Amino acid sequence: MKQKLYEYKDEQNWFIGQCSKENSSTYYQAEAEKNYALLEQNLRSLLGEGSALMLTVVKIASGMALVQFLLDIINNEQQHNYKASSHKGAILVTEEDRLVLVCLPKEGLAVSEFFGEADGNLTALGDSILIATRNEGKTQEFSQMFSKLGMTVENLNQYPELPEVEETGLTFEENARLKAETISKLTGKMVLADDSGLQVDILGGLPGVWSARFSGPDATDQKNNAKLLHELAMVFELKDRSAHFHTTLVVAAPDKESLVVEADWPGYIGMEPKGSNGFGYDPLFIVGESGKTAAELSAQEKNDISHRGQAVKKLMEVFPAWQKAH
Ligand code: IMP
Repeated sequence: MKQKLYEYKDEQNWFIGQCSKENSSTYYQAEAEKNYALLEQNLRSLLGEGSALMLTVVKIASGMALVQFLLDIINNEQQHNYKASSHKGAILVTEEDRLVLVCLPKEGLAVSEFFGEADGNLTALGDSILIATRNEGKTQEFSQMFSKLGMTVENLNQYPELPEVEETGLTFEENARLKAETISKLTGKMVLADDSGLQVDILGGLPGVWSARFSGPDATDQKNNAKLLHELAMVFELKDRSAHFHTTLVVAAPDKESLVVEADWPGYIGMEPKGSNGFGYDPLFIVGESGKTAAELSAQEKNDISHRGQAVKKLMEVFPAWQKAH
């Protein structure tokens, strides 16, 4: 079947295009006109798989005219209804009420100009997620993960007026939900909360949700570890001292069912503390069969396999679909 030939011509612009199954090419008659090549490549991303376009630009004075021409071809060949509009020097392609492509000018655009924000604040851009913690280290870890999705991250230090949410739940999920859903209701924002702890099998899962306060109201990591060793003093075989760290992550947003993911990191409780990295119960936690404690791993080694690292990886897999769903 013969492919249709398209042409657009006015006083300053003259384009000829043809869709084909295999050959993609562009021919610009004048060198200077290659300025439009980036724009045209952007538009080509809207062509479906297996479609190619041969384009000849005899003369050109307007990027918008070229965009309209290419969209006409794509709409005609592929039953789309793309429309182009220009916004502050950028070209936006929309279909019904969806923004499908933004073509920026070569030199870029000031954020403040594009969004009309008085201060050009980048956190006003795109989606942001509030992490229900005042711990900057934890925030940093989540920030690295969410930046891969083009999202910015805030934490509770930016909201000093918010009350502390008491962790009164009996499970990790109850506590994480309590924090995420309460703060989401108070702020109207998407909020991520986590709750973690150590569960020792022979102690029926203790210290569990009480991990941080295991040795009482004035608990420290050292006192918690001493109490744990005391509880296990009569358990002599390592195989009987099996345990796991657990993390539950909950993401809550207004008018949406919360997203919950969890992960475990199995190991054993050693006879004495070893290593100086990490925090909490790390010096007592022997990682699987390795013989090393979590406190003998580097931060990177621990993040790659830990309960929190695994839970965050799982979250990244399911989060984009959850975010899209209404
Ligand atoms: P959070 O919910 O992450 O604040 O953790 C609660 C408590 O569980 C901490 O205070 C620690 O005692 C313990 N914990 C959680 N994760 C870890 C870990 O990766 N290493 C050692 N202890 C942990």
